[in-house]
Amino acid sequence: MLDLANCLSNLDRHDSDVHAFLYRAPQPALGTGALGGKAVALKDNLCVDGWPTTAGSRMLEKFVPPYTATVVQRLQQAGASLIGKTNLDEFAMGSSTENSAFGITRNPWDLSRVPGGSSGGSAAAVAAEMCHMALGSDTGGSIRQPSAFCGITGLKPTYGRVSRYGLIAYGSSLDQIGPMAYSSEDCARLLQVVAGPDPLDSTCYQHDCPDFFEQMRAACDGLKLGWDPTLVKDLEAGARASFEASLQVYRDLGLQLLEVSLPNLGYSLPAYYLIATAEASSNLARYDGVRYGHRAQGGKDVAQMMSQSRAEGFGAEVKRRIMLGTYALSSGYYDAYYHQAQKMRTLLRQDFEAVFAQVDAFALPTTPGPAFRVGEKSDDPLAMYLSDVYTVVANLTGLPAISHPGPLVDGLPFGCQLMAPAWQEGRLLQLAHHYQQKTDHHQRRPFSVNLTNIKA
Ligand code: GLN
Repeated sequence: MLDLANCLSNLDRHDSDVHAFLYRAPQPALGTGALGGKAVALKDNLCVDGWPTTAGSRMLEKFVPPYTATVVQRLQQAGASLIGKTNLDEFAMGSSTENSAFGITRNPWDLSRVPGGSSGGSAAAVAAEMCHMALGSDTGGSIRQPSAFCGITGLKPTYGRVSRYGLIAYGSSLDQIGPMAYSSEDCARLLQVVAGPDPLDSTCYQHDCPDFFEQMRAACDGLKLGWDPTLVKDLEAGARASFEASLQVYRDLGLQLLEVSLPNLGYSLPAYYLIATAEASSNLARYDGVRYGHRAQGGKDVAQMMSQSRAEGFGAEVKRRIMLGTYALSSGYYDAYYHQAQKMRTLLRQDFEAVFAQVDAFALPTTPGPAFRVGEKSDDPLAMYLSDVYTVVANLTGLPAISHPGPLVDGLPFGCQLMAPAWQEGRLLQLAHHYQQKTDHHQRRPFSVNLTNIKA
């Protein structure tokens, strides 16, 4: 059994190679409660009073928040051992954790590959057993895509299920915090603690959570699972075989598989990259060098000081997003871009209403393929954005989605993604849990961890 000491020793041994962590807690508390004995890592865009919180940006390199995110407070109350803060793409903008100002994170399954992003540090930390579970944030796939690349389970809850108080904002109508762990069971455990109403976040759903554990255990035979064959027809053979094998597991579990269609899914990526960048350009306006964050020296007036602070503090991808988003919101282009994208959001919501009138859950791959190599897509933003084709729709519609490990593809992890109607995280945990009772994909560990176990 992995305990806190094992986690910390894995961290000591492997983090010089993996670089999952940006900050280590000096002395992780050993608490009691629902998460007593569990080592939990936090994505470094979650504020913790007194801990550096950088969001992977030079802009916040020296920022120490004077308050703690609601989710972190709940972890502390539940007795979790908070072991540190994990690396991410700057302000959570990216799909590979190569956009961090503090160095890249590597995939513990193959150090020449990316762990995915933006919660790549959290996924790599769980995969390398440096912690039992981790929190990530997901604006367009940042929990699910790195979970898929690192062979673990990750859940993006319904928009509003988890308080965003203390999360550094990226796209406020899309952002959600969620659990990452090897098993669906641990995701349920973590979600139960962090989810639920919070007066400090006005977008938080004001109804109590169900017992996710109980929902997870309920029998799943007879449920209907939809999938859209047109979404997977162009997948590379290995990826398609993995996805189809996962569908077969669901058939064997007694689910009824039905073909359904999502006619507008192809528009989700362009709609996402308009809305996410528009919201980002607005959210990031607060980093002006005056109130907090990096301030450039030597400007001759306030305007120059602000623009220099932003030029020095933000990295290339963040600047690209601010420019794209500002353009999409500018007068004359607002209707052509931003407004169109918002209309697409409604159509996608309607597509899913039609799907969920026929089935209880919808299955699709998490990503087009397994983890790509470090550097492979970093010079081609469009190729990088395309790795989010299957994930952004859950954020645009607000729906919950989970990624769990399916059969390996070329020796690398590959994720199967499930979506459900709003507030039905329990259904997703249930399906993934029953899948995990029948298969051992979530029990495989990367070579680096096996090596530790052999040495130990
Ligand atoms: N990769 C997507 C982006 O770059 C999603 C990021 C996220 O979910 N935070 O915007």
